[in-house]
Amino acid sequence: MKIDLADKAKELGLKYFLISYTDLFGSQRAKLVPASAIAGMQKNGAGFAGFATWLDLSPADSDMFAIPDPTTLIPLPWKPEVGWLASDIWMDGKPVAQGPRIVLQKVMAASRAMGYQMKSGVECEFFLTTPDGSAISDPADTAAKPCYDAAALLRRYDVITEICDAMLAMGWGAYQNDHEDANGQFEMNWHYDDALITADRHVFFKFMAKSIAEKHGLRATFMPKPFLGLTGSGCHSHVSMWDGDRNLFEDEAGVLGVSQLGYHFIGGAIEHAGAIAALLNPTVNSYKRINAPRTISGATWAPNTVTYSGNNRTHMIRIPEPGRFEMRLADGAANPYLLQAGLLAAGLDGIARKTDPGPRLDINMYTDGHLVKDARRLPLNLLDALRAFEASPMLGAALGEGFVKSYAKLKHAEWNEFAAHLSEWERRATLDC
Ligand SMILES: [Mg+2]
Repeated sequence: MKIDLADKAKELGLKYFLISYTDLFGSQRAKLVPASAIAGMQKNGAGFAGFATWLDLSPADSDMFAIPDPTTLIPLPWKPEVGWLASDIWMDGKPVAQGPRIVLQKVMAASRAMGYQMKSGVECEFFLTTPDGSAISDPADTAAKPCYDAAALLRRYDVITEICDAMLAMGWGAYQNDHEDANGQFEMNWHYDDALITADRHVFFKFMAKSIAEKHGLRATFMPKPFLGLTGSGCHSHVSMWDGDRNLFEDEAGVLGVSQLGYHFIGGAIEHAGAIAALLNPTVNSYKRINAPRTISGATWAPNTVTYSGNNRTHMIRIPEPGRFEMRLADGAANPYLLQAGLLAAGLDGIARKTDPGPRLDINMYTDGHLVKDARRLPLNLLDALRAFEASPMLGAALGEGFVKSYAKLKHAEWNEFAAHLSEWERRATLDC
């Protein structure tokens, strides 16, 4: 049955709607619309000048309209008179091909046509810092191995439980919260679901964590490596493929309880890891988390090579238990829609071509990685990843040539801006050459 947002406003006591969309850089854009105007907006969308956000549009383009998906409605837990909505962006009567939520739905439609529904869960790691982001927020949080530190977790009880209570009230199936491996770092987990539902929730989670932290005088950052020497913030992604209520990755007779279909998906993720890194690790800073030297805690927990293993966290892909795998490549900067879209596109290609992921490695990759002579390396920087991304015919076909072109264009501009920056290190290292 169609959800009427004007009725919902009355039922839930909403005074405003936040009609939002996510641009190519993962930024959330929105218009705040009074409930009295929602009926027209639900039908025609809220108008935006697309060029003003990261979408590779022109100032000469027509108005862009964000048409809300009413099934995503959430009264803001910290401002319940405002109803948040995820939207799809349209221009000139057509969906904008490079809109991240549109891109994910395109790959999911291809997946459905093959008979598969991807379900996924994301583990969002983040730091709570001082408002200016220059230091962690808790001066007492100094342990060399701070992971699961009970006292440090409880010192942030008010923020963490306000976010967790909200997830419980929204029915996300929140089930645990912890202090992570870096000082000042936390992770909060909720139940996996359909990939689009997870992506919408992932977008909202980031918005909510930042907003609630701000309310408490702190800052939540998902920056992949905000403090050199400390473990970075990953976004480990758990993946399975379903047909109705049947998990197609589960197979008692399969190696580690994973079906042949699951291994083909892993094969695709391995083959295309270098190219999808541009989506899973989308910033200059992302490459300081992967391929990183050992951190103070003893391990980065981030991958350096394109390898897979059983229940072993030193590889890019881990099979923790039957019926699913964990992709450990993505980081906190990943656009929630493009993360799922890139992973699914790679996996579907692996399934279609029955890709063999090669042998599983059961070694500690951090200490013994050098013994594996032919292990493929991950891109060393954003430019490496962008070149692999642009050169991938698979991504062009699955995500759309227009999207690949637009994304690569904007990200190259970001890389060029970074490269044009003269750093203090560079000056020091070169001044007396
Ligand atoms: Mg974690």
